[in-house]
Amino acid sequence: QVTVVGSVNRDIAIRLPRLPRPGETQSSCGVTARIGGKGANQAVAAARLGARTRWCGAVGEDGEEVLAALAAHGVDVSGAVRLPGTPTGTAWIFVDDAAENAIVLDAGANGLLAPDHVPALADGVVLLQHEVPDEVTALALATARAGDAVTVLNPAPFRPLAAATLESVDVLVVNGPELAGLAGSASVPATPDEARVLLAEVPGVEAVATLGAHGALIQRGRHVEHIPAPPVDAVETTGAGDTFCGALAAAMAGGAPLVEAAEYAVHAAALSVTGEGAQESMPDAAQVREFMTT
Ligand code: ADP
Repeated sequence: QVTVVGSVNRDIAIRLPRLPRPGETQSSCGVTARIGGKGANQAVAAARLGARTRWCGAVGEDGEEVLAALAAHGVDVSGAVRLPGTPTGTAWIFVDDAAENAIVLDAGANGLLAPDHVPALADGVVLLQHEVPDEVTALALATARAGDAVTVLNPAPFRPLAAATLESVDVLVVNGPELAGLAGSASVPATPDEARVLLAEVPGVEAVATLGAHGALIQRGRHVEHIPAPPVDAVETTGAGDTFCGALAAAMAGGAPLVEAAEYAVHAAALSVTGEGAQESMPDAAQVREFMTT
């Protein structure tokens, strides 16, 4: 079983000829509403790959539709809380004709998730991100660790981690900018060699660094392994990191050792960039298996 403790957002994409100026009113050329948020995306990725998956997080009074959408993807939402007087997290994404964007994010209920909203986390793989308050992350990791669960943290968006939080993490998953943040480096690694140098700055934890088209590096103790990404025709990379995290957790929940799980996740995430959208382009297990054998 995979348990994701994290965010859910309504992503409202608004297409405009150009981004509005202060005081200006513009008519949109079209609006698309989707479900997003790193927590929800990672839960959908794991569920799509066949893992028994539950999502624990908060929605507002207007959240029934969002929960129904997650449930329709096969995610167990029985651990969700509904917070009265609060809106569900919402991202308003303005996109102009030149594909330039401007985003307004309201954390809404995600920002009000509290430690006592989270049910007992005693087994399976427990997966967290950084879109809920830090005290929720800290407590969820600690209780999961005190049980038999394996804990995976994707500290995105990046904020420095408390030492006590890091101690409860079995596997840390970071992309290039997050690895730079973690290692205290001003420059984002562009190659596996550069990432290797930064990973050496974060000893003592098993860590996976994702590097876009370069695939991923897996650090276990002093040993670092590179898993290249298979070449694909990239259409949209939104949600690639979320697909990676969900797939890694799904494979680990199925008993795969870390390197094998990362290899599975690299392939699942590479497939996800060949289609548009985030959740819309996440592959199922049969597609990943076929891709891995061709
Ligand atoms: P994020 O989406 O968090 O920035 P990355 O860009 O590192 O994360 O991508 C995560 C994973 O998605 C990579 O490890 C890789 O497996 C896959 N991926 C991303 N971009 C590409 C690409 N252009 N070609 C193949 N795989 C890709």
